[in-house]
Amino acid sequence: MPAVTVDELRSVAEQAVSQEPRRLGSAGWWRRPLVAAAPADRRFDCLPRIAAPDHLLPRDLLPTARAVIVFFLPFRKELVRANHPGARPCREWGLAYVETNALIERVSRALGEVLEARGFRCGLTPATHNFSEETLTARWSHKHLGHLVGLGRFGTHHLLITPAGCSGRLGSLVTEAELGEHPLMETREACLLKAGKGCGLCVAACPVAAFTAGGFNRRGCWERLTENRAGLDYFSDLPETTHVCGKCAAMMPCSFDNPVARLESARR
Ligand code: SF4
Ligand code: SF4
Repeated sequence: MPAVTVDELRSVAEQAVSQEPRRLGSAGWWRRPLVAAAPADRRFDCLPRIAAPDHLLPRDLLPTARAVIVFFLPFRKELVRANHPGARPCREWGLAYVETNALIERVSRALGEVLEARGFRCGLTPATHNFSEETLTARWSHKHLGHLVGLGRFGTHHLLITPAGCSGRLGSLVTEAELGEHPLMETREACLLKAGKGCGLCVAACPVAAFTAGGFNRRGCWERLTENRAGLDYFSDLPETTHVCGKCAAMMPCSFDNPVARLESARR
């Protein structure tokens, strides 16, 4: 079977994102996407322990899975800047969430089509809401998968910080193609606080103080997201599932790149 390379998949993702402005009739919300991949090996066995006890494994999506692909669609700076002021998300943030969900599906499908055209079956997953509202954990966490394939590292805000920052959205799929190791992370940690450099700006930015000494108050965050959808008039025409806030990701040192890598390269 003719092989598929990760560079080829990166081009497919870039092309899918670059077509959006014409399709939407607007500038779109995204910067250049990132794609990372890794063999579907034993590293994923830790998912039920680190993500959720009922988390699926790559082979649950596709018994013949050989690789896991995770991609990141980083938001444009204008959007992230617009969501910074105040304690509530702006209209554009909600709209971008909805349109990014659709784009995640399109990028996943485009990647899947290239792979399947070469004879490699794929297992695709929904962009979001594949999680339990009771436990607030996903059975397929793009964030944890992104961590395991080396697309990013968790920040104090529990978001994944990639080389293009944390402001954006993730998608993933599994495939029978053998793609090899294609991580993108340049540093062991990407969060300034975790790297011992001092920061904590995301902790201070959370309107419900969800980051506590005892850990992440997942329930408090979720309640805020649902309250925003229910209470903001300018979200009333958006889908019921538009659960957004994003204050901990807006205009942070890690919003647009990996601040630890930035610091290290400034020192060289
Ligand atoms: S804002 Fe600072 S402490 Fe929070 S995740 Fe980003 S780098 Fe880490
Ligand atoms: S999304 Fe909003 S409520 Fe949730 S942790 Fe971030 S800032 Fe806090």
